[in-house]
Amino acid sequence: MRYLLLVFLIITTQIEAQNNDQKQINEIYNTALTNGSGYAWLNYLSNQIGGRLSGSLQAQKAVDYTKKILDSMGLDRVWLQPVRVPKWVRGTPEFAYIESDPGLTNNVPICALGGSVATPLGGIKAGVVEVQGIEGLKVLGKEKIQGKIVFFNKAMDPTNIDTYMSYSGSVDQRYAGAIEAAKYGAVGVIVRSLNLRLDDFPHTGAMSYGDTPMESRIPAAAISTNGAELLGATLKLNPDINFFFRQNCKMLPDVDSYNVIGEIKGSTYPNEILVVGGHLDSWDLGDGSHDDGAGCVQSMEVLRLLKATGYKPKRTIRVVLFMNEENGLRGGTEYAEQASKNNEKHIFALESDAGGFTPRGFSFDCNQANFKQIESWKSLFEPYLVHLFVKGGSGADIGPLKNDNIVLAGLRPDSQRYFDHHHSANDTFAHVNKRELELGAASMASLIYLFDQYGIK
Ligand SMILES: [Zn+2]
Repeated sequence: MRYLLLVFLIITTQIEAQNNDQKQINEIYNTALTNGSGYAWLNYLSNQIGGRLSGSLQAQKAVDYTKKILDSMGLDRVWLQPVRVPKWVRGTPEFAYIESDPGLTNNVPICALGGSVATPLGGIKAGVVEVQGIEGLKVLGKEKIQGKIVFFNKAMDPTNIDTYMSYSGSVDQRYAGAIEAAKYGAVGVIVRSLNLRLDDFPHTGAMSYGDTPMESRIPAAAISTNGAELLGATLKLNPDINFFFRQNCKMLPDVDSYNVIGEIKGSTYPNEILVVGGHLDSWDLGDGSHDDGAGCVQSMEVLRLLKATGYKPKRTIRVVLFMNEENGLRGGTEYAEQASKNNEKHIFALESDAGGFTPRGFSFDCNQANFKQIESWKSLFEPYLVHLFVKGGSGADIGPLKNDNIVLAGLRPDSQRYFDHHHSANDTFAHVNKRELELGAASMASLIYLFDQYGIK
């Protein structure tokens, strides 16, 4: 009899907890959809400040603006965490053309890849060799590449439903193309933009020279997908055409910048920290609305939603707007270093850095026991169609926090349109849908709420 009573009590407590969770999550979604703040914040970040390349005036303005918003939210603590960041500047607009016969030219849209060196002042004109990815260099060999511009034309694979997989499959030519091509004596590289559709936007992104000595570094630029198609077709007709490009980007010395941080202190376990964040820097061609203005305002909105619904966290909940994800990851690295130096105990970190599109679920970087616990929450997200819970990556900025005692997670929005915008002039506020952005913030707040309630195993 006593045993039965105990079972009965356990079951009723569980049902009660489940009901409370449902109620709290419902309130979070209702508040986000009727009284959200994230969209207005994003409007300001995008349209009043604009692209926020690390070390730029706009990046500093974004630090000041988001700190001001956090200051106004009645949090327990708001502060700036200093971090030195690289400062790369694009200079004047790049220019390029295909010369199919002497004097017969077609202009094509290009942009310098982030971190690239400039061309000589008057530009570079040379013959072109096309390869499908880095592996293609070996096939051609030094003899055919020496003195030429290498055109990396490996397209993103359209058959993956998860477009990030296609991005991962092609991004090496952008990141390391210049290192590898220089080894074969190339004078420059032109990389097909990482975009699944055909259009006229060149997409920038980080590239590296590794330990290539300064004098052997060759300029690297991205070409729009339409431009890449034209260049590829022209080369098929006549492999002896020339390509011209000019860019005057430059790497300047590091400058001071900041991560922007705010927190609500936990009432029961103040030493257990939950982080939610995105990255405040962006590329400079668009206004960085999807990448990653959306993730920043959603993360700020998480704390606001919890407060607005009257929720008092047991654990400390911290929003972190990381600086310099795009071309250095210095903010994420510094945050993790300070956390370990101060012996802070982080149990959960969630990043939104995959665009402000309709949320589908989350991916989790954690052990099996933790994942089992997380899966038991899935049904709470079903009414909102946000119940794709998978094991996988989380986010670049929270990556450095990884250890055996933390669960890392990433918001997984629908990815079909992300690469239409990513790192290009087409990443603007007009392409963010208010409801989709709000649903993402509500989903993140709900997950943070559950981790706050139950901790980790
Ligand atoms: Zn990003």
